[in-house]
Amino acid sequence: MGTTINYRLPIWAPRLRKAQIAQFYEASGRGFVDEELIDDVGFSLLARAESILAATEASRGRAQCPVCSIIIEHDHEDLKCSHCGWECSWAAFKKTIKYKHLHAGGMKPFLEEFVEKFPMARSHADRLVLIDTLIHKYHWETSTGGGRPGACCLIEGKMSNIMPFLDSLSYGEQTPEEVEATREEWRKKWHKNKWKGRVQKMKDRDGSTKDAGG
Ligand SMILES: [Zn+2]
Ligand SMILES: [Zn+2]
Repeated sequence: MGTTINYRLPIWAPRLRKAQIAQFYEASGRGFVDEELIDDVGFSLLARAESILAATEASRGRAQCPVCSIIIEHDHEDLKCSHCGWECSWAAFKKTIKYKHLHAGGMKPFLEEFVEKFPMARSHADRLVLIDTLIHKYHWETSTGGGRPGACCLIEGKMSNIMPFLDSLSYGEQTPEEVEATREEWRKKWHKNKWKGRVQKMKDRDGSTKDAGG
């Protein structure tokens, strides 16, 4: 171990590109089960979900060592891995999380469910539905409504362009009924959502560059 200080920092999986998502819905609308595309989107989403959950845990005092993956319990001071000797200040670690939409919040149970179910899904049709379901969740969602759209932590962009993007995705003749139904529910919930008005106000004001994604 010696006195070497290793400043390796965690690397978080990025949010998904809109083009990737658009392609995914287009293919499913044509009834074409593009297994490669489904896996590309699904495993990107899985990595993203795992990053959000890990970053959230880190903020709560359980950081994962970026070198040996062991969990380091901390009280928001310096981090030191007892297994491999990696060290880092909490301030430097925390900086990697900030402004990256990595707080699970009310998406936590949905992210956990996805992480658990996606790798176990038997068919690509099942995988497709799991992906679609996660993308259309709201934080703290219940059967009647929810908070911020979870998509803001999963797809690149601001809330003010992510929501119209999801709303305008081209579905097709072959889009599974379950996927259609999810979108209808998602639209109903957005209609009642308090963030909808805020997004509109922000757009009206100045087309501001501020991120409404939270
Ligand atoms: Zn370590
Ligand atoms: Zn966010």
